[in-house]
Order: sequence, then C-alpha cells, then structure tokens
Amino acid sequence: MNSPQKGFFLDTRASKDSHERSLLEEHFAFIMTALDSILSQTLDGQRLHGPDAVTLLHSANLASLGRAADTVTRRLHPENFRTYNIDRNINYTNICTAVCDFCAFYRAPRHPEGYLLDRGELLRKIEETLALGGDQILMQGGLHPSLPLEWYEELLRDIKTHFPQINIHGFSPPEIHHFTKISHRPLREVLERLAVAGLGSLPGGGGEILVDRVRSAMTRGKVLTDDWLEIHRQWHLLGGRSTATMMFGHIETLEERVVHLERLRRLQDETGGFTAFICWSFQPDHTDMSHLPPAGAFEYLRTQAVARLYLDNFQNIQSSWVTQGREIGQLALLYGANDMGSLMIEENVVSAAGTVHHLTLDQIRSAIQQLGYTPRRRNVFYELFEEELHSPASELPVLAAAL
Ligand code: SF4
Repeated sequence: MNSPQKGFFLDTRASKDSHERSLLEEHFAFIMTALDSILSQTLDGQRLHGPDAVTLLHSANLASLGRAADTVTRRLHPENFRTYNIDRNINYTNICTAVCDFCAFYRAPRHPEGYLLDRGELLRKIEETLALGGDQILMQGGLHPSLPLEWYEELLRDIKTHFPQINIHGFSPPEIHHFTKISHRPLREVLERLAVAGLGSLPGGGGEILVDRVRSAMTRGKVLTDDWLEIHRQWHLLGGRSTATMMFGHIETLEERVVHLERLRRLQDETGGFTAFICWSFQPDHTDMSHLPPAGAFEYLRTQAVARLYLDNFQNIQSSWVTQGREIGQLALLYGANDMGSLMIEENVVSAAGTVHHLTLDQIRSAIQQLGYTPRRRNVFYELFEEELHSPASELPVLAAAL
C-alpha cells in the first residue's frame, strides 16, 4: 500500500507533468500557428519579411518548410525537368594576401606550397573540359600580391583566342576588388576591361555572410559587404549576369543570415542581374575555425528552403551536393532547388577543407530522374542544350567535386 506521503508526491508529480504537458502543447500549437500563418501568407504571394524569416529559421518543422519551398519551386518551374551544368573549377593561384579563417585553400605569399598555374597547364585543363563536354570554366584564385591587371586581361584573351566557345565564369568579387587596388583604377573601368578581354559572367564567391560584423571577425584584407554588392551592381549595369552565394553555419546569427538574404533580394530588385542563388554550410575541417561543429543536413535544407521563400525575385536555386553529398544534394531538389548545380570536372577549394564528394554525370542525372524529373543540361545563363551529352564524362568519375 502506498503511504499517503508517497501518494501525495505521486499525485503532485502527475499533476505537474500534465500541467507542463499542456503548457508545452499550447506553446507548440502557438509556434505551429505562427509557422502556418507565415507560410500561407508567403504562398499567397506576400513578400516574406525579415522577422518572419527568422521565425522560419528557428522552426523544427522541416517538412512544412520543405513543402512550402517546393510549392514555390514548382510554380516558378512547372516544367517536367530539372537542370545541371558541366564545368571545371580552375584555381589559377592559391597565393593570397587576405586571411580568411574558414579557408583551407590559400597559402600566404612566399609559402613553399604556393602556386601559380603555368599558362600551358591552364589551357590544357580547358581543352580537357571541352573534350568532356563542358562549356564553361569557373576560374577563381587567391588575391595575388604582384600580378597586374594586364596579366588577367591577357589571361582572358589567351583563353578566348584558343577556345572562343568557352564561357569564363570568373573572378569573384574579392578578386575584382583586389584588382582595383593593385591597378588603382576605378571599379567600372576594371570590369569593362575584363569584359572586353573575354570575361563572360561573374561568380558569387566570397559572399559568405554579407554583414560586416561577421566578415571582419573571420577575414582580414578582403572585400566588405557594400563593395561586394557594388561589384555585382556595376557588372549588372554593364549588362552582365552573375550568381549569388551564401556560406552559413559558422559565427553568424540567424538574424544575420536573413540580413544577407535581404541584401541580395534588394540588389536583385534593383538590377535583376543574378541568375541563381547557391548556399552551403561551412566546412570546418583543416581551417582555423575547425573547432566549430559543422551544420548538418537539417540546417542545410531548412536554410535553403527559407532562402527559396525569401528570394522571390530569384529564378533559380542550386543544390550544393558538393558540400552535402549525393543524397542530401538530391533531397535539396525538394527543398527549394530546381538545379543540381555543376558536375565539376575539378575542384580544389572545398576539397582542401576535407569535403570531397564524387558524382559522375550519370549519377547526377539519375538523382534527378529518381525524383520524377527529366535531367536537362544547361549553360550558366540557364539556356538549355538541345541534345543531351553522350561523352566519356558519363562514365568517368570527376577529379573532385565542387561549388
Ligand atoms: S577565401 Fe579567398 S580571399 Fe580568403 S584566404 Fe581563401 S583564397 Fe584568400
């Protein structure tokens, strides 16, 4: 028989448990209502506001976020296909005057492992890319201390002379900013000269989080927010197209993640020059920030879904299978992405941080097909190729995978 005292405690615990349960249920119902109301307003065509986006980034209801993001994707892309691209990442130098705590790729000037690709080797890489069916190179490098602007112009001219058909998606905003410093020429002139020499489109590299508190805390000697945006603005005003990126999951707050999205959305309202948005989680291995835990698949999918809802003026979102692997990269197509990104024939930056995922062209295509879509190859401007590629790239594993 229970003693009265024991029974008293049992009854009190039971009543406390049920009180806590009902408080929790109320709280949960409140959160669900708030989430549902934000999502239904967004799906009704209302622009997602910053505080609501932060609420979504706090939400544990990944399924609802995914459904909403996928609804938006299907509205923007009712077609029965999903796209991918083939290109090669050529990092012409790893020598860099900047210091980014999250970067495992760069080497300081005079470091014994620093390199500058020989021109012949660089051209050979492009030749291989074309032979494997690629139509573009993503050409980026560190901020080299002594190469003049003329060196970059000559590089572009050389490539276009040998391979006029290739699109050079090159020089991220930190590099362009660096070129203005070394040449002492205004930004507009630098961009015009690079365009005349053969630059085709601008990558969104070096965006990380477009909040100076974050940038200043983890980078030294690199472009800050306003200049990063201004480089894209001026490129767009010249008639150029570019991509936008976000690397999250390090020292930024969720509010700062949303500020980043807001800054991209505003610029896109102004110019309409971004072709796509790509986000990925910080890869900490072998970096000076390796003590930070990596963001997982849940965080990646949630962030991309919220980005799809927030960036209502971006037509395309790319999956980052390179950082997330095949399965999550494929799942990303149900969480706001409409494009598998690129089959990169070579990549050095993410792999330097220890993240190396390999996919063949057939694996990228089958990842799309398994979701019920037809895979279609596109170029950087999202123009479709009429014929699907039948080349050795179908069977060959890539050298490494990339952004
Ligand atoms: S991220 Fe770019 S700018 Fe920063 S250290 Fe690496 S190569 Fe240099």
